[in-house]
Amino acid sequence: MKIGIVGLGLIGGSLAIDLRQLGHTILGVSRSPKTCQAAIARHIVHQASPELSLLAAAEVIFLCTPLGALQSTVEQLIPHLNSTTILTDVGSVKASVVEAIAPLWQNFVGGHPMAGTAESGLDAALSGLFIDRAYVLTPVASTPPAAVEVVSALVRSLQSKIYQCQPTDHDRAVAWISHLPVLISASLIATCMAEPDPTVLDLAQKFASSGFKDTSRVGGGNPELGVMMARYNQPEVVRSLYAYRHQLDQVIAQIEQENWTELEKWLKNTGSDRPLFIDS
Ligand code: NAP
Repeated sequence: MKIGIVGLGLIGGSLAIDLRQLGHTILGVSRSPKTCQAAIARHIVHQASPELSLLAAAEVIFLCTPLGALQSTVEQLIPHLNSTTILTDVGSVKASVVEAIAPLWQNFVGGHPMAGTAESGLDAALSGLFIDRAYVLTPVASTPPAAVEVVSALVRSLQSKIYQCQPTDHDRAVAWISHLPVLISASLIATCMAEPDPTVLDLAQKFASSGFKDTSRVGGGNPELGVMMARYNQPEVVRSLYAYRHQLDQVIAQIEQENWTELEKWLKNTGSDRPLFIDS
């Protein structure tokens, strides 16, 4: 199959590596000519160009630009496409993306691979990034089932676990497990850095070990992506932050009131609930 990828960064580059390995012909478009040259030189794509016209022959196109560039990319791409071309995106937010793109192109299937690292750009692209990871598709009533089937087959070939849901349900769910953790983790780093005593701050930085490494990881990632999550999933992100603040207020109250029994009960519950998220 001839597959187009727009945005040769972490996700686009990783898709290109795996899909090429599976025998597809990969046509890459990225903003920077240097990225396009590097993608060809490193055999990540067969052909690459900053010009979207390169994708005229593609049967399926993965849109892998930052969220803010998805709609304008589709608008610029449409004059080069024939009506059978299937478009799918990898954006971390779905309702606003699907609302913007579905009316522009009927053969569009919203998608989101739940995989990533703290790095960005083509140099961060990895093979096998999507293996055993959830890959969510968010077709709507107007999405042709045949287009969903083509995208599903490609996603299945990446060895991802496919899920389908409504774009709005996706956005509420990822606010809890992806967008909220980024902002909590970033807040943790910022709160520690607010320690006013330089000696204590220096000691904290020297003492930090695996626990801090785990809890601060997603807060130290791509800032552009964090802003995009908050901007394009604003109501759900704000809702999750208020709920989190409520939990913190309750924990503070229990500790101030020395309510150790309640605190232990709460921590027991969080310990037994954690596998529901990470072992499923
Ligand atoms: P990234 O590493 O920064 O890659 C995006 C690449 O797109 C950039 O490196 C840039 O490459 C290129 N680009 C930017 N604007 C463009 C435009 N207008 N036209 C063509 N290419 C353009 O970002 P990413 O992490 O792969 O994220 C890409 C998409 O995946 C986002 O929509 C994000 O929501 C989604 N996503 C990210 C993750 C994650 O954990 N990172 C996970 C799942 C989904 P050059 O400037 O070098 O050409």
